[in-house]
Amino acid sequence: MSFDDLPPLREVIRAHGLFAKKALGQNFLFDLNLTAKIARSAGKLEGVDVIEVGPGPGGLTRALLAEGASRVIAIERDERCLSALAEISDRYPGKLQVIPGDALKTDFASLTDGSRPVKIVANLPYNVGTELLIRWLTVEPWPPFYESLTLMFQREVAERIVAEPADNHYGRLGVLAGWRTRSRIVFDVPPQAFTPPPKVTSSVVHIEPRSNPLPVDGSKLARVTEAAFGQRRKMLRQSLKSLGGEALLAKVGIDPTRRAETLSIDEFVELAQNI
Ligand code: SAM
Repeated sequence: MSFDDLPPLREVIRAHGLFAKKALGQNFLFDLNLTAKIARSAGKLEGVDVIEVGPGPGGLTRALLAEGASRVIAIERDERCLSALAEISDRYPGKLQVIPGDALKTDFASLTDGSRPVKIVANLPYNVGTELLIRWLTVEPWPPFYESLTLMFQREVAERIVAEPADNHYGRLGVLAGWRTRSRIVFDVPPQAFTPPPKVTSSVVHIEPRSNPLPVDGSKLARVTEAAFGQRRKMLRQSLKSLGGEALLAKVGIDPTRRAETLSIDEFVELAQNI
């Protein structure tokens, strides 16, 4: 038995026939010490509504509840997991709400009633992780409906999120994340911690909104960074041609021979304000 008197996760997997499906990005965590460490990376959970994407057999869900979350609202696409999650709901009456469905079709801001702070914590399915992050970073209004994001990514994606100008990993994600949030890699998780093990190391990233980011339309910032980094080896006058090219760069006083990775986040924002 474990800290919550529920069966060990390997038993849960066996009892509910939850062999991992690659198409659903299923790499499960069985070590409840590790899921507790991830839950603690989100900070204090007492008095907090936690939104979890992809609870699977519920290893992280159990840790979030054991760490004192007032409520966990978990969105899971794989119906096979629902019976395992029901056992956790029984153990924590009224505290776990499981929403069967696709996180990409979920309106996250409307899941909670605003009476408590909201934190999003997830061991994300890799195939939808970046897409969800971009949505959470560009959500309106700002400050957003959440107080923080604590998310597992492939290490390489985590490095792109926290990257600063001139870092090797600096690109679209670094600009979007740096514009509105502060982010840091909390710790790495080796492949063998997962079942089945993925090919690469993963990292837990903690992200907190800035209260006063420079005002700009997030979709415009996404367009500028997409164009600039889509041809990252080209000079900006070439890569930004479709958005105004030399005229746009002259307007904001940026040397047209520079390349995307040399621009600060503020410079990207200024470009986006002028397209
Ligand atoms: N949280 C569990 C853990 O840590 O062991 C499982 C993590 S596993 C990496 C990702 C989970 O997300 C799987 O349970 C998978 O079924 C679910 N999933 C995949 N795509 C999804 C989607 N679009 N919406 C909601 N859940 C999804």
